[in-house]
Amino acid sequence: MKSTELVGAIQRSLAELVTYADELRDLDQALGDGDLGITISLGANAVIEALGAVPEDARPSEIARAAAKAFANANPSTMAALVAGGLLAGSKAWADVEDVDVAAAAAFVRAAGDNIAQRGKTQLGDKTILDAIMPAADALVTGADGAAGLEDAIAAAEKAVVETRDLQSRRGRASWLQERSIGLQDPGATAMLRFLQSWQKAAAVVAR
Ligand SMILES: [Mg+2]
Repeated sequence: MKSTELVGAIQRSLAELVTYADELRDLDQALGDGDLGITISLGANAVIEALGAVPEDARPSEIARAAAKAFANANPSTMAALVAGGLLAGSKAWADVEDVDVAAAAAFVRAAGDNIAQRGKTQLGDKTILDAIMPAADALVTGADGAAGLEDAIAAAEKAVVETRDLQSRRGRASWLQERSIGLQDPGATAMLRFLQSWQKAAAVVAR
């Protein structure tokens, strides 16, 4: 996927992601403060708008950097800052990328996950967005080319999201619930899954 297609695919996928805002708000309400729906909506809409102003000849790394900036500035939450930092780390992984394929997507998601783990002082199993990001990155790295690679990443993220229900929240506001967090699905991990599913829909338009 070249830059011009990339901008459209990101915009369409984020417009789709916003349709999950109520689900994310409800999941976050059960575990935290319920602001995740707003964080995702404001962030996604800010990115859609910002990418409308990106020059035609922008490289994929520049597009990702513009998205990171817009997402960070749209909302002051911790989640927005962590996701934006992840997007920025992903943009650096694309320094030499002209054409975004599964390998490039894998490098992006991995770099974003590593950054979020570091800045959020989070590890796998803490019941956070990382629990969906890392399995998705693994599936993209080892998986098939093209649409099948994305399908594998979605399957891995979906499995991980279901598994978060059995985990105790170790980070953020959700950790205040301690054992009472067990049984509830992690909103951040769910947001990552919904993004991948939204991306699949958006990228299918490009592939046609
Ligand atoms: Mg929250």
